[in-house]
Parts: sequence; structure tokens; C-alpha cells
Amino acid sequence: SGQLSYNKEADPRISEEIINQIDAEKIREYLRDLSEFPHLAGTDADYKQAKEIHDFWKNEGLDEAFITPYDVLLSYPNTTDPNVMNRIFVYNENDDIEWESALYEPILHPSENKSNVVPPFNAFSAPGNITSSELMYVNYGRVEDYQWLVSNKSINVTGKIVIARYGKIFRGDKVRLATRYGASGIILFSDPKDYTYGVDPKVYPDTWWLPESGTQRGTTFMGKGDPLTPGYPSTDTAYRVDEESLKGDLLPSIPVHPIGYGLAEKLISYMGGDEVPESWRGGINITYKFGGPLKNAGWKIRIRISTRNIRRTTYNAFGVIRGSVEPDRYVLLGNHRDAWVFGAIDPSSGTAVMKEVSRVMGNLVRAKKWRPRRTIIFCSWGAEENGLIGSTEWVEQYIKNLAERAVAYLNVDIAVTGNYTLDGGATPLVHHALYEATKKVPNPNTAQAGRSVYDNWKMTTPNEDKTQPKISPLGSGSDFASFVQQFGLPSVDLTYTYDEDKYKIGSYPLYHSKYETFYAVDKLLDPGFQTHKAMGQIWGELARNLADSLIIPFDVRDYSRVLEGLVRQLNSSETGAIMRTKMSLDKLFEAARNFTKEVDAFYTMQMNVRKSNPYDVRKINDQLLQLDRAFTDPAGIPNRPQARHVLFAESSVNVYAGSSFPGLIDSTFEISGSPNEAQRWEVVKKHYSAIIFAIQSATSSLRDVT
Ligand code: GLU
Ligand code: CA
Ligand code: ZN
Ligand code: ZN
Repeated sequence: SGQLSYNKEADPRISEEIINQIDAEKIREYLRDLSEFPHLAGTDADYKQAKEIHDFWKNEGLDEAFITPYDVLLSYPNTTDPNVMNRIFVYNENDDIEWESALYEPILHPSENKSNVVPPFNAFSAPGNITSSELMYVNYGRVEDYQWLVSNKSINVTGKIVIARYGKIFRGDKVRLATRYGASGIILFSDPKDYTYGVDPKVYPDTWWLPESGTQRGTTFMGKGDPLTPGYPSTDTAYRVDEESLKGDLLPSIPVHPIGYGLAEKLISYMGGDEVPESWRGGINITYKFGGPLKNAGWKIRIRISTRNIRRTTYNAFGVIRGSVEPDRYVLLGNHRDAWVFGAIDPSSGTAVMKEVSRVMGNLVRAKKWRPRRTIIFCSWGAEENGLIGSTEWVEQYIKNLAERAVAYLNVDIAVTGNYTLDGGATPLVHHALYEATKKVPNPNTAQAGRSVYDNWKMTTPNEDKTQPKISPLGSGSDFASFVQQFGLPSVDLTYTYDEDKYKIGSYPLYHSKYETFYAVDKLLDPGFQTHKAMGQIWGELARNLADSLIIPFDVRDYSRVLEGLVRQLNSSETGAIMRTKMSLDKLFEAARNFTKEVDAFYTMQMNVRKSNPYDVRKINDQLLQLDRAFTDPAGIPNRPQARHVLFAESSVNVYAGSSFPGLIDSTFEISGSPNEAQRWEVVKKHYSAIIFAIQSATSSLRDVT
């Protein structure tokens, strides 16, 4: 009967049992505990939590738990000397301080009254002291905003301090762009139009809307992982690059500081210049101006930043359930643990849910009721907030093992920002299993018509042809990025969200502020924790299916469908039009068609596999496991050596957004008439050829060498 257990199909009762045992009250308790104190990366509180989750896994029936430390570059503001602490000042004509920004966000609910709350700051800001008689408003600080200023107002920000509102794109992109346009410093603010709701005058602690003092912290690093060890793990023997060499592109070379809308109102009131058009106006009851010299002659603005980059140790914690038949195949579930302050939403909502999934699975294993066919690894990452550091270092250290053995990575960072619908991002091979999991989980919002999460998701957010719920391609912005981009691991990223059509906000309002408290989640966001519970059920069922099914539940037809869609989309895009001036896209279409043919043949073979023969099963599973890897180019896409997936990466103008054929979009950007146009076309042609080769490789991986 050895034969039998090698070829045993998953027991459907375990699926039900996991879904039924996920307990909302337990998640609530875990969240209260995780978010009671600040737990910033690289601090004692962060290590303490790593140790606690490690011990939790040991106690709840998992087979192993371990911690991996990495010595990495982090960033901290000065919190002791009020004479140097980060601040913005306005001086009058006599050089007296007319106004200065606050050092802290005030306590608005008693639960925030704790020590070690880091004041609002932007990680990796350059330290500095800059004074200017001019302050310019650049809207969201996107490429199109600067271009608009130049073409409509002949405004150039070189040498000036700029102020941009948060939202639309990753803050690091705003800082990099401000630097490229020559700004000497940048202030980021949360505008009420992007973080409150006009018709609702109430804010936190009465509602989840951002109060005027609420301030979004956050990194401005544009790379992934430890800034000093790109591409390699930050171990004892690692070579570390010179920090200075990173400035300007990956790390800011100018000071940057965040403020809330209470302070922004004051600053805007000092600004001069013409009134901005409607689309540039925010929600503060004031006239928004383009700026220029401050309104009053002789007045000046100053940004003082004493934030420093410091090497510290960050810790990843892991909990392992060993697979019974294929212990060397890994299904990874992960989230970061570090938070800017209390982190009750980001990331502890995800960690509380992960603890519950691991408890339920660990207890089933301990009771000898179940052991998954493949190994399940729970991952609690350190220092995500500084730039996906813990997860990236681990991927870099174990890339050979992971590329051979990992099946999928399932990320849930912010588990819940609303109770409206699921927001899912995934690479193609996991679409099918994600849909299947959401069909099994009851809709947590009983006021809605949909019976299951799937039904509701499909109703609220259908894909283009309305046949399935919409799944977005993965960009970056959380820990899945290095798994997808460095070695092509099928990955998922999930959040349960608010109605994004109704609320046109930059993110959930309290994001990265001190006010992300347990109180806010328990009383305002998800009272009863039913939405958190649904997230645990989806995550647990998805992991179970991937770890326990005899044949890995990847539907290869999703890959060919997505690829053909991407090729069509490229063809009708601006990038496609630019490319066609120098080359034909026929070979790309042909490669995609051949891939589809091979996929269809493979699918038939998969459906007819002799499940009684462990070697036939092994063959299908290995090919499924390796398929996505074939879309990676070891050299990386042009100018992004660590982004190796030729189909998916983040957009070069917004880290949060997904981009398809990212290397083609980048390398053709404004190519016509550019100074080294001929050389640039060679890069485009080389990459185009590498993409076709990647598709051909993926095609042959489903077949044989011939
Ligand atoms: N999730 C963090 C943020 O949005 C880090 C993202 C990143 O470094 O890519 O600020
Ligand atoms: Ca590294
Ligand atoms: Zn997060
Ligand atoms: Zn975050």
C-alpha cells in the first residue's frame, strides 16, 4: 500500500475542516496582541515578535520553526534631540520662525498612548538642511504632472522645494522624479480629497477617515532588499556596495518629509503663484496655487532632516509543516511582521490571519488527522516597510533551492481594508486555484447578494468578458515581488477591500499613520472579524489545495490565455506602435500561438495521466512547477538585473502598478529622436529576441528536447 499513499488524492473533508475551524475570535485576539505596541523593523519589539511567532508555531503543532537574521541597511529619524529632529519651518522677513511643523501625531484614542512611536518620517530620506524662498505644488508628483507644468505654465522646479500630495503612485517614485526634475527637497502630504470622504465630516477616532494630523510614513527606497547587497544575500561574507553610489536613483539624494493635511493647509496658505486648475485642487478649503516665491516678500521655507541610515539586524521567522510524500516541495504563505507603528492593518491584520491558518493546520497535524502531501512553510518577514528587505534577502540566499522546489508563494500583507470584495493579484498559473478557493468560502458580508466570496467578487469586479472575477497582474509593493521577479514563482497577493469605485481614495485612509490601531480595526473596520475570517479561509484552502493535491492544481490554459492577451495588448499599445516602426511583431504572435498549442496538448496529457504511476505524476508535477521559471531571463530585463521575469514586473513610473512586457515598455520609452537612439534600438531588439526565446523555452518545457 506504499503505492497507494504515494498516489492518494486529497481528502475533501480536510478542506471543509480547515474552512470550518478558522475562528474569528482567535484572529481578533492575535491582532490585539500583535498591535499592542509599536514594532518597527530592527528594534527590540520586532525581534520579540519574531521570537513569539516562532514559539507559537512550536506550540501549535508545526514540525519545525526557525529564524533567519540579516544585517541590512535601515533608516531611522533622530528621536532624542529636539534641536535636530525632522521639521519644516517657515521664516518671515526678519528670519524669525513664523511657523513650524509638529514633531508627533497627537494621541486621539487612549490606546495610542505608548512609548516608542516613531515620529512621521520617510525612510532613507537624505539628511539635510535646505532653505528656499520658493515652494512649488506638483499635484501627485507624477511624470504627467511635471510635463503639464512645463508645457502649460513653463514652470521648472530646478533648485526649488516641491510639495506633492500622496496617492496614485508609490511615494518613492515621487521622490525619484522630483530629484530628476532638479528639486532640492520634497514634502509629501495626505490631502483630504484622497484620504477622507467629502460628505462625511467625521474622522478617526469616530470613523476610519484620516484626521488632519494623520501622517503617512513610508520608504523612499526604489530597490528591493538590503540596499547594500543587491542580488546577493546580506550574509557575513557579502560584499557591500558604497552607500553614496546608490544616491539619486535607488536612494534619495534630497530631503523628503511627510505631513498631514492640518499642516499642509498652513503651508499652502503661505504659497504664492497662480491658482491651479480644477483637477489639481485637493480637498482643503483653501485656494491651491502653483507656488513660486512665497506670498510674503522675504519669507523662506526650510526642511531640516536628521534621518540616518543605520545597519541593523532584521529577522525572518518560519514555521514548517513537513509534507508526507513530497517534503522537498514547498508551498509558501507569507507576510511581513514589521510595522511603522502599531500596524493593526498593515501588516498585523495579515499576520493575525496567518497565525490562525497555521494554528488550524498545525493542530490537524498534531492530532494526526492530516499531513499535507507537500511541505507548507509559513513566513514572517522582517523589514518589508524599508523595501521588501527580509523576503528579498531570503530569496537571494536560497534561490537555488527555491527555484527547484517551491510550488507557489501566497502573500497576504494587509488582510482587510474593507468588507466589500476581494482584491486579488496573481500570476496566471494560480488563477484557477484562487477561484476554486473563493467558491468554497461564504461571503462574509451577509448584506450582499453573493453567496460565496467568489459570487460577490465576480459581481463587483468582473473581468473584461464578465466570465470570471478580475485578477490583476502583480507589480510590486509587498513581499511577493522577489519571488515572482527573481525566479518566476507562481504567486498570489490578496486583500479584502472597500468599494474602490465609490471611494476614490489613495489607499485606506489610516495607512502608515499612528492611528492604525487595534481599536480602529475592532470598532471601525471589521467588528466581529468576519472579513478577517474569510481571508483565513481563502488563504488556508488555497494553500491546502496547492500542498495536498496529487497533481498541482495549476491550469496551464490560464497561462496561454493570459500570454495571448498580453501580446494582443502590446500590439495595440503605444509600445507596440513604436516597435512596429523598426520590426515586425509577427514572431511574437507566432511564439504565443505555438505556446498555446503546446499548452493544449499538455493539458490533455495532464487530464489523462496515469495517477497510479508515481513517476507519471512526478513528471506532470515537475513540468507544472517549472513552467513559470521558463519565462525568466537570467540577465534580467534591460536596466533591471534583478527583475528577470520577462512578462511581469512593476511599472517604471509606479512601483505599485503591474506592467506587462516591462522591458519593452522601458526600452522603447521616448526612444524616437533620443540622443543614443540607434544604440537603444539594439537593446530593444536584443530584449525582444530574449522574450521570444523565453516563450519558446516555456513551450519546449511542456514537451521534450527535440
Ligand atoms: N509596502 C511598502 C510601502 O508601500 C514597501 C514597498 C516597497 O518597498 O516596494 O511603502
Ligand atoms: Ca541582498
Ligand atoms: Zn505591508
Ligand atoms: Zn506598509
